[in-house]
Amino acid sequence: MKPSVLKRSDHNVSRKNISSAAVKVLYHLKDEGYTSYLAGGGVRDLLLNRNPKDFDVATNATPEQIRKIFKNCRLIGRRFRLAHILFRGEIIETSTFRAPVPEGDTDLCENTFRAEDNTGMVMRDNIFGTPKEDALRRDFTINALFYNIADFSIIDYAGGLEDLDKKIIRVIGEPDKRFAEDPVRMIRAARFAGTLDFDIEPAAYESICRNNQLLSNAAPSRMYEEVQKLFFCGHAKAVFKWLEKTDLLHPMFDEFSHWIDEDKSRHEWVIQTLDQMDRWRKAGLRVHPGLFFALIFGEYHEFLIQQQIDTGTSPHDAARNAVHSHLKGMCKNVQVPKAVIYQVSDIMSNQQRFERTKGRQPQRFMQSRGFLDAFLYFKFSSKVHKRNSELMEFWSEERKNAPEIPVPEKPKRTRKRRPPKR
Ligand code: ATP
Ligand code: MG
Repeated sequence: MKPSVLKRSDHNVSRKNISSAAVKVLYHLKDEGYTSYLAGGGVRDLLLNRNPKDFDVATNATPEQIRKIFKNCRLIGRRFRLAHILFRGEIIETSTFRAPVPEGDTDLCENTFRAEDNTGMVMRDNIFGTPKEDALRRDFTINALFYNIADFSIIDYAGGLEDLDKKIIRVIGEPDKRFAEDPVRMIRAARFAGTLDFDIEPAAYESICRNNQLLSNAAPSRMYEEVQKLFFCGHAKAVFKWLEKTDLLHPMFDEFSHWIDEDKSRHEWVIQTLDQMDRWRKAGLRVHPGLFFALIFGEYHEFLIQQQIDTGTSPHDAARNAVHSHLKGMCKNVQVPKAVIYQVSDIMSNQQRFERTKGRQPQRFMQSRGFLDAFLYFKFSSKVHKRNSELMEFWSEERKNAPEIPVPEKPKRTRKRRPPKR
């Protein structure tokens, strides 16, 4: 199959909109005689007049050849060796064109290996290939476009240009097989549909609904990274709707999603959280994962905490136990780092301190390290549940009147100096 090629005069992708670091990498590879393409989401976003999050380069130079021509280069990756070319404040991921390996091929040699586990999931792949093979091993047609620095054309092996026009997320190849190879592609489909306001093509949509349970086979640490992309992308609410429609929430947040199922009104809190996330994102504010997990699971955690208080546990211990047991249980699917679990548990256990308004307690609380996050949660939950209006007034006033209180810094760890060598 020959690719469709769109000449420079027929598309809107301009070097002006590509980061100067990526342009340097593209030209340097080309000048050394290699094929050099901008690939993946960067091309998709430029064609849609959106700001790409990052720029990836694909080339026929091998990782070793890339390393030889770039001083500022580091090779990474066990599953697939690729190059990170480092610039101030930016990394250009540069990978050699990859190919799938013919099924049943057991010949192993350096840089060419592939293995599947018994669920059909690809565990390792590192085979160099042609541009066409590289395009066709990508997830969706709209993610398989190349921009060729040699003549500024767009190269399309998979029909991505047409799908961009039609606003469709279409899997390259057979959806059941591609989702079994890598179940994370299912939540990527939901993310792109939500972010770009596209539809998921019917065969892919049905396949996700059939195969959503495969997501529990994905590596929990990778799921943690993907979950953050889902909710920090600025379109969290739209993405969440796709996750619900395709029933991908169960294999991600098992216990929590069953709790929501029991009473659909519990859904409202989550929607409001995601709305808030999107607003913060639009305003350019960054929310750290601890605050995000505290917010999204907030109503559920409050429910669990109350259950423990009802059996006689102190509110402080109830908050710690409930958060730790829920989030640790979730780690089998989505591996939330320990530090983040502690942040969530601090936010929740600090909530009772908002009721203590006497004496020096408010001052002390406001000076403590966890106050701001706890206060953001307190404000949010008070708004959603229309509660604590008097307390909200009190704390807003306290904050206004308080002198700018510096949050105490953690004491710096000082290293013992070695005695100088003689
Ligand atoms: P984003 O805007 O989030 O960066 P993206 O499409 O660039 O979206 P990346 O995760 O940066 O996504 O990946 C870059 C490219 O690598 C994708 O566009 C796609 O072509 C390919 N890719 C990424 N993940 C997969 C996957 N799981 N399976 C197949 N191809 C993938
Ligand atoms: Mg990208």
